[in-house]
Parts: sequence; structure tokens; C-alpha cells
Amino acid sequence: MCYKVVERYSVCKCVYFQHSIDPCSAYGQRGHSIQEKTVLVGYACARHSAHSSPTSPTTGRWPDSGYSSSKGSGR
Ligand SMILES: [Zn+2]
Ligand SMILES: [Zn+2]
Repeated sequence: MCYKVVERYSVCKCVYFQHSIDPCSAYGQRGHSIQEKTVLVGYACARHSAHSSPTSPTTGRWPDSGYSSSKGSGR
């Protein structure tokens, strides 16, 4: 049985790293399936860990330039 190791974040289940398939002798035969091994890494990704994290490293300002805040008070 071939194995493909997929590392996922244990918190948000996002794919952290996807290894290449480790083929066995029966690789490529008909009806041969690849067993996916999920390895959990013990944290969330940068996108999801930023949601609730006590230690925010350098996320000071969001890089959004087109911030359209339509306040009625002009002039
Ligand atoms: Zn195999
Ligand atoms: Zn995530």
C-alpha cells in the first residue's frame, strides 16, 4: 500500500504540507489505492491562528488600501 503523508493543522485542519507519494511495489496497478496518512501538527495556520491568539507577532495593520467607509459627514 502506498502512503501519502499529509500534514494538517490540528486546530483548523488546513493542509500544512503535502508530501509526495511513497510508492510501493504495486504502485500504479488497477484498483490500487493510496493510503493517506494525516499527520497533525500542533497548531493552527497563520490565517486561523490570528483569529484567537494571545501572541500576535506583527499583524499591526491590514494591507487593505481600498477601505471604503462611507461616512456621511463630508466637507
Ligand atoms: Zn501501494
Ligand atoms: Zn487554517
